[in-house]
Amino acid sequence: MTRACAALEAGQLVGMPTETVYGLAGDATNSLAIAAIYAAKGRPRFNPLISHVSNLDAAKHLGYFAPLAEKLALAFWPGPLSLVVPRLPRSSVCDLACAGLDTIALRVPAHPLAQALLTQFGKPIGAPSANQSGRPSPTLARHVREEMGDAIAMVLDGGPCSVGLESAVIAVDGERATLLRLGGIARADLEAVAGPLLNPKDEAFAAPASPGMLLRHYAPNARLRLSADTARDGEILIGFGPNFPAGSFNLSPTGNITEAAANLFAILRLADAQNPTAIAVAPIPNWGLGEAIIERLTRASAQDSS
Ligand code: AMP
Ligand code: MG
Repeated sequence: MTRACAALEAGQLVGMPTETVYGLAGDATNSLAIAAIYAAKGRPRFNPLISHVSNLDAAKHLGYFAPLAEKLALAFWPGPLSLVVPRLPRSSVCDLACAGLDTIALRVPAHPLAQALLTQFGKPIGAPSANQSGRPSPTLARHVREEMGDAIAMVLDGGPCSVGLESAVIAVDGERATLLRLGGIARADLEAVAGPLLNPKDEAFAAPASPGMLLRHYAPNARLRLSADTARDGEILIGFGPNFPAGSFNLSPTGNITEAAANLFAILRLADAQNPTAIAVAPIPNWGLGEAIIERLTRASAQDSS
């Protein structure tokens, strides 16, 4: 446990047993650790991650709990339910873990090793399932090692996962609760506490393609111009790699794509705060996390509202 905490503190990743499936755990307040999670999973886009905490009190430092959210948390935590709630401005979880959304997914897992890790680490832990993107979720420590190899510092072996399904995900917006993902708790049991749950399709949301796209993503006010080599008049240039100036607007002066992902949201905000006519972004290579960075920038440049 001490080694696992030290690894997390150093920005490394740890295989974490939970009652649902094994998680690929990283310090949710450290954007480099979160970027390493996306890289290790080979995810083609920055889906928001679930932030794990040891109890409801800790969760209330990160998200706003309307009475309905509190009721669900009291009924099902610790356990296989994730709650998507408005993110507090003072939340310590980094933008990248929330994929730039103004909401945050929170869960208090019940597994004793997850509880011990969260309590001893003392900070929120971002963790998606510890499988390569598109592969089944791991339910044994051995699976995590097979999926993640050297991308993780260690796996805590907590035995087979008792639930073996991902957590149910409910978004609570005031007094409306929407079931975003079916999981380790039956709909009827959830509805016994929350009342009828909305389906994402019933909602007034504009045709969401995936749960992660339901709510508003952070998009800069300024227009984005991609694959730019230089800044035009009034533009701010966000660079990437050694061919661009090394200042605070370079995603990674050394051309490290994981570092670029870690810096993406912070630098976009910084650039936007200067009120440029547009934000020009250097060409980003299309490998590793580059694909997800380009996807995110393309969506922001289209200025859609998803
Ligand atoms: P996984 O990373 O496999 O544990 O899956 C996490 C699930 O929670 C995905 O379905 C995400 O889209 C969903 N999720 C996490 N955060 C949010 C959020 N802020 N809004 C909507 N869905 C979310
Ligand atoms: Mg998963």
